[in-house]
Amino acid sequence: MNMPVVAAVGLGGNVGDSARVLQEAFDALAGLPRTRLRGVSALYRTPAWGMEDQADFINAAAALETRLDAGALLCHLFAIERRFGRVRAADGSDRWGPRTLDLDILLYGDAVLDVPGLRVPHPRLHERAFALVPLLEVIPEAVIPGVGAARDALAGLDTTGVEKLGRARA
Ligand code: ATP
Ligand code: CA
Ligand code: CA
Repeated sequence: MNMPVVAAVGLGGNVGDSARVLQEAFDALAGLPRTRLRGVSALYRTPAWGMEDQADFINAAAALETRLDAGALLCHLFAIERRFGRVRAADGSDRWGPRTLDLDILLYGDAVLDVPGLRVPHPRLHERAFALVPLLEVIPEAVIPGVGAARDALAGLDTTGVEKLGRARA
């Protein structure tokens, strides 16, 4: 039996009613097997990152306590993305492009993983205000293995445009 691990999931979307999609995605996370939803952040409106010529994103984070291993958790996240209509280009060309729902594992306890298709902590977490702001809401003491306190990482970033929308249901 795996010990429970506190994992952080980053949520994002910019196609359709993203606020509603993210609320429903929180419910889907709460329903994952061997997992308890410990907390959810507010929703944030954030300017698109990477491919900037597209609609603003809505971003949020959730803290989970899970007995799923990181690979199984990621498979469940992919399944939730698909349920909300996310279609992935086979060649990955839609990366950073518009999507109904994007779910990333930001942290999986203090684990450092680098296997095909899964890197934890999320390799770009420490440079993204839109991920760190909601993460710190759900895990204020979050530490990014190999980087340091999430709070310190955020202190070096520009948070312009990361705008809180309102509190999500717990
Ligand atoms: P980014 O990873 O920069 O946030 P993205 O979320 O748009 O970009 P996707 O197209 O959703 O990227 O995913 C690309 C690949 O990233 C997926 O096939 C997945 O296997 C891989 N991946 C690696 N590490 C993680 C992680 N920690 N969480 C989610 N996906 C990951
Ligand atoms: Ca992402
Ligand atoms: Ca992703």
